Amino acid sequence: MSATLDALQVLQQVTLKLTALRSKIERKKRSVRSHEQRQAAHEAELAAKHEVIMQRQSAVDQLELEVKTHEDRTTQLREALNKSKTNKEYAALLTEINTGKADNSKLEDQILEGMNRLEELRAEEQVIHSKIEDEKQALANAHKAADAFEQDSQAEVEALGRERAEAASAVPSSTLSIFERVAERHDGEALAQVVQPHPKRQEFMCDGCNMGVTLEQFVILQAGIDIQLCNSCGRVLFLDG
Ligand SMILES: [Zn+2]
Repeated sequence: MSATLDALQVLQQVTLKLTALRSKIERKKRSVRSHEQRQAAHEAELAAKHEVIMQRQSAVDQLELEVKTHEDRTTQLREALNKSKTNKEYAALLTEINTGKADNSKLEDQILEGMNRLEELRAEEQVIHSKIEDEKQALANAHKAADAFEQDSQAEVEALGRERAEAASAVPSSTLSIFERVAERHDGEALAQVVQPHPKRQEFMCDGCNMGVTLEQFVILQAGIDIQLCNSCGRVLFLDG
């Protein structure tokens, strides 16, 4: 039984190395994904900003059209004014011309305000544009780094894989499947040492989860009769030394 535990220790070591390397590779890929998400968020922000700009622009266009209509009307009124026959008619036309002027002046103010706002919005749009450009660069760099790291690690991953297969072949298949299951659950950490917190007391603890290990389990392990699993975390237990 101690031979099996020795083989499991070797398997544990190489499994941890492999897990660490794989999670390093995965971290770099995650970084790429987070850059992609940021990029998408900026693109959405840009589209929304563009939509607002289009709406504002169309509002300003509409106002300009109204001004033009007013101006045409004023021209007509002036012609009528020149041809007016009575004082009453003259006064009425003059009032209408003046009212039109006042209306137009209000519209011009609104147009100016709209144009100013458009200018601000376009500046904001430009800021988002540059954010996208920066993010594009960052994404490309992250991509490059992730690919390079994966490529550089490939030989090591393969070597560790071979080493792991060899270590696994020294473990009985029923124990191996237990190991694999537990390793999966605990990031490759499938073994846990049994510790005795108080030297004078017959109390034992799993070092993986700090829960109790029974005296019976301890005795079985000490005698090397069978492997034992922690009742709480399921890790394969071993004794020191
Ligand atoms: Zn445990």
